[in-house]
Amino acid sequence: LLMHDASSEASLLERCQNLHQKATLDPMTQVANRAEFDRVLAMFVTAHQEQRFPCAMMICDLDRFKRVNDTYGHQAGDDAIKSLAALMKSCARAGDLVARYGGEEFVVVLIQTDAKGAFKFAERMRKTVSSLAVMTPDNQKLKITISLGLATFPDDATEGPALIARADEALYEAKRSGRN
Ligand code: GH3
Ligand code: MG
Ligand code: MG
Repeated sequence: LLMHDASSEASLLERCQNLHQKATLDPMTQVANRAEFDRVLAMFVTAHQEQRFPCAMMICDLDRFKRVNDTYGHQAGDDAIKSLAALMKSCARAGDLVARYGGEEFVVVLIQTDAKGAFKFAERMRKTVSSLAVMTPDNQKLKITISLGLATFPDDATEGPALIARADEALYEAKRSGRN
């Protein structure tokens, strides 16, 4: 009979998994954090280049969010951010990457998606968010809207940072032309 105590290895594995989650996920929303997004984006672009498939990037920013915080409080603001992240995760397909890019800004990389498909996805997100009601801690209905910018590989850009820049330009155009 050969006995081997594997408890220390099991806890080491668990600790590795915990560390990996901490390093890659945004603690508030449980979507990928910025570092993970940067790491995965380069891989996505290379894979789509090799397979000769398009992919798309969507950048999303909550509209007039300072006002939301000022009116309903930061707790309600946080709840709105969490709801948005959960919605994006549930709408994305397996293999897509949803990440928190910064404060109230999110990015979704849509695998094997062209401009037409990306537009459909973005419109679905925009409409769903505008019809969503987030409940505030004091039971008020908080309505939010988002503005979105899209860019596609390889039509708009062929590298990660350039894709982000193009999607960002489109986002600011959406803000300038009225938001939502
Ligand atoms: P715009 O429509 O132009 O985007 O207006 P905005 O007020 O949303 O402006 P901007 O995007 O520049 O501001 C983002 C605000 O989001 C600032 C900050 O108070 C708020 N914010 C960022 N991160 C968080 C967060 O984690 N929780 C909460 N409650 N608010 C946040
Ligand atoms: Mg912002
Ligand atoms: Mg904003």
